[in-house]
Amino acid sequence: MSTSEPHPAVMWELTRACDLHCRGCPSGAEPRRGANELTTYEAYKTIDQIAELEPRELIITGGDPLEREDVYQVIDYARRRGLDPALVLSPTSQLTYDAIARLEQNGLTRVVFSIDGSTPGIHQPVHGVAGTFAATMRAIRWAESAGLRIDVNTLVCARNRDDLESIVDVIRPLGIARWNVHFLVPVGGSVVIEMITAEEVERVFAQLDEIRERENFAIRVIEAPHYRRFRLERKLQKNLEWPDFATYESESPETNAFMYISHAGDVRPSEFIPQSAGNLRYRSLSTIYRGSDLLVALRDPANLKGKCGRCDYRHVCGGSRARAWAMTGDLFASDPLCAYEPEHVGATPRVDARKGATA
Ligand code: SF4
Repeated sequence: MSTSEPHPAVMWELTRACDLHCRGCPSGAEPRRGANELTTYEAYKTIDQIAELEPRELIITGGDPLEREDVYQVIDYARRRGLDPALVLSPTSQLTYDAIARLEQNGLTRVVFSIDGSTPGIHQPVHGVAGTFAATMRAIRWAESAGLRIDVNTLVCARNRDDLESIVDVIRPLGIARWNVHFLVPVGGSVVIEMITAEEVERVFAQLDEIRERENFAIRVIEAPHYRRFRLERKLQKNLEWPDFATYESESPETNAFMYISHAGDVRPSEFIPQSAGNLRYRSLSTIYRGSDLLVALRDPANLKGKCGRCDYRHVCGGSRARAWAMTGDLFASDPLCAYEPEHVGATPRVDARKGATA
């Protein structure tokens, strides 16, 4: 890995099998493991290739990763290769205290759960399965007692947009490390979930800034890179010093240095974008990361169209390519969930890629 290359974040769908049928599942989870899943040996080879890229983060997800009996070996091998994966867990029949304790014994340090509402009445219609609120809270307590760091995912939608402060009241006593606030990309099962508007997204951004000021856990915004534009605008309005981009990476990590690996080894720009940049069975991960036409094109802000293409924040934001694809069918179209209107069509960018203000 060259020192000038960004270290990618990698999300790996270990399996699609899951015994829940969540309403908003974007990945098309299936009741049983697929015949084309990477084998245990291929999973080891995948870990070798991920380790070679020295990722800034590795998230192992599903489906339900516990559907694979080799998940413990996978975690153990990842740790021995110097990785520190986070594991996304669902409140399925596989999720027991013994499973969590065994994961911890195999080196796991961080787990991720979903809480989409402050009460079962709000959470379960978003999640789509009865009983998941209580089961998730129980599993979080197990994870806490096993000494694991806990992330909570929340998908913001019309049903819970007024419930965010109450969700904070629920997650605060759980001692979580990070709250990952997701914005909807309407693909797969999640097309049935009602989106909030672009104007409401701006209000949620402001609310998140207030929550960030007073809470002890970190907040990260997912699939809303225009949160960076929001934060930068606020800084620039106050004439504060140019912000440290490292902070923005951790707060809103969508950059083009991201790869999603499917259960069958397809490498994609996002879990929500079905186009494959290559398959690990035929090409190495580093070759795909550095040389895929798809990933290279997505990294170049000159390819953006419409409002995003002429936006003075395009080098640091660029909009959600996944949502552009899901809602317009064009990977390079404007992000429909951004309320910002660029001031000067075709003007010199006010914000240059990671170098600071240019005008
Ligand atoms: S118009 Fe596009 S590039 Fe500009 S802030 Fe909005 S989403 Fe980002």
